[in-house]
Amino acid sequence: MKIDVLPIPDPKPRIEDESQLVFGKQFTDRMFLMEYTTGQGWHSARIQPYGPFSMDPAAMVLHYAQEIFEGLKAFRRDDGSVALFRPADNVARFNRSARRMCMPEVDEAFFLDAIRQLVALEADWVPRSPGTSLYIRPTMIATEPMLGVRPADQYSCYVILSPVGAYYKGGLAPVKIWISDHYVRAAHGGTGEVKTGGNYAASLYAAREAAGQGYDQVLWLDAKNRQHVEEVGSMNMCFIYDGRLVTSPLHGTILDGITRRSILSLAQQMGLEVEERALAVDEIFAGIESGRLTEAFGTGTAVVVSPVGQFTYQGKTALLGDGKTTGEITRKLYDTLTGIQYGRLPDTQGWVV
Ligand code: PMP
Repeated sequence: MKIDVLPIPDPKPRIEDESQLVFGKQFTDRMFLMEYTTGQGWHSARIQPYGPFSMDPAAMVLHYAQEIFEGLKAFRRDDGSVALFRPADNVARFNRSARRMCMPEVDEAFFLDAIRQLVALEADWVPRSPGTSLYIRPTMIATEPMLGVRPADQYSCYVILSPVGAYYKGGLAPVKIWISDHYVRAAHGGTGEVKTGGNYAASLYAAREAAGQGYDQVLWLDAKNRQHVEEVGSMNMCFIYDGRLVTSPLHGTILDGITRRSILSLAQQMGLEVEERALAVDEIFAGIESGRLTEAFGTGTAVVVSPVGQFTYQGKTALLGDGKTTGEITRKLYDTLTGIQYGRLPDTQGWVV
């Protein structure tokens, strides 16, 4: 399928002061868009000016939440070129999400190329200051106007781009985590491993409660026993326990994070043993007390690595170190991964495109 590239009548001014960039608030001049109709497949692929599109108020996404999305980044490298990080992994995950939500899959090679073309056209929007990047948001929505619970017959798939500032302006900053013993994010057989909007809507109430009490993120426990660690906010959770990297296994309730995958492989290269098992909440508190648990961090595209300084559960709080210092292994993993992304370190695994 050919991608039509339409002219942009009035390009927006760039944000000169990159320290003013707010995550997900500004968007570039162009977006990719294509449509799907049952019987016809995907059609009308184009790169057009960024802007609102009209939708029928009965569009099924607005009622039954048939929606999926992805999140990846383009980086401005030290030599001025622009690189994507493991984009094929995101496109593959997009299709896994599509299957689970009864939505049409995209042709992975075509969609990857569409993302590349869009980013190439908008390359000037990739910020240049240290730690900045261009966030890429592929999305698919059910557009068929119809009230009734069944998979839709019409979809739109689009990609928008948002220049984002440096997340850590004053260096890695440990966060305070509230472990929820009541709210859960996902149950076995549900959609926890899918990147679909409903999972995020369902997480807001607990996040607001945690924020109201001064915490940065919610740590989700398993839905059945409220015992074992699943994820933290919208990140995968890693622990350094007995000198090993321990992280929850992918068993359907947590997202198969691309940062998680990358961190596990870097840890192994550094000679750390990796153990995929769900840590129990009791082990967190006992481990901190005994000194067996030395570091903890979340992983995700937006922040790369987010060190944890404090856990609170049922009114009990435990600090990792003084609660304000990033652990040595956490820092090394962060420096290595961002080094590969920004081209300061060699990409021995072929992650950079
Ligand atoms: N878990 C959830 C629920 C997420 O939304 C994300 C962000 N995509 C992650 C984990 C981390 O995934 P990734 O490393 O691919 O960004």
